[in-house]
Amino acid sequence: MVEEENVNKIKRIQHELLMITLNKIKNKDILNVVTKQEIIEKLKRLDFLNVNVIAFAMKNPEMYCTNCGNCCKKSSPIALCETDITQLKKIFEDDIIQKFVRKSNKGLEFTKTTPCAFLHKNECSIYNHRPFVCRVYPFKEKSNIIMPVLYDDCDFAKNLISITLLIWIMHTAYERMYPIESAKADAELKAIAEKRYGDVNKISEDKLFSHLFERTPKI
Ligand code: SF4
Ligand code: SF4
Repeated sequence: MVEEENVNKIKRIQHELLMITLNKIKNKDILNVVTKQEIIEKLKRLDFLNVNVIAFAMKNPEMYCTNCGNCCKKSSPIALCETDITQLKKIFEDDIIQKFVRKSNKGLEFTKTTPCAFLHKNECSIYNHRPFVCRVYPFKEKSNIIMPVLYDDCDFAKNLISITLLIWIMHTAYERMYPIESAKADAELKAIAEKRYGDVNKISEDKLFSHLFERTPKI
């Protein structure tokens, strides 16, 4: 039953995102070149969000995050890893940790969650020592892959997905309508990127991930 509710919720958010994105397309003729069905499939897989897009979003959260604070006000129990506990121990005595951390069948987590006990005046009072899941929100790491999560109350993920989906639609439409010009523009862009960053294909995603999502914050 819970599973079914989650699937329906994800479908509803996907539909909302589809509508937001379609509304941004001024020239509807584009939908004859990139079909609505293709866009829906893309939205289900989220494979237009490559590591560079995620890296850019994490470095520039102000572009997508509306600072609504919902992640701290409404989020389900914040899961904690051992490194998070080590960080918390730097600022709290053991008795405080015991008060705010519990063990569940999923592992360690904060006891009080709605709103988070560390949210003071809409700001995180342990910001520099906040847990890993807070630092990467609204992304989640699963099997070393970082993906945005379609949280219902988070505009960050929705804005990011909608804008990047729109870019994918425009790029794909341009490629299909003007294949020669498009290939030329791609080659020029690649040359500019290589001049600036070296061989872009050699940039290791692992390195990028470990830099962006390091488990121990630099403070
Ligand atoms: S620890 Fe900080 S960032 Fe994480 S949920 Fe609590 S208030 Fe928000
Ligand atoms: S819920 Fe999303 S949009 Fe709101 S503050 Fe958190 S990350 Fe930003």
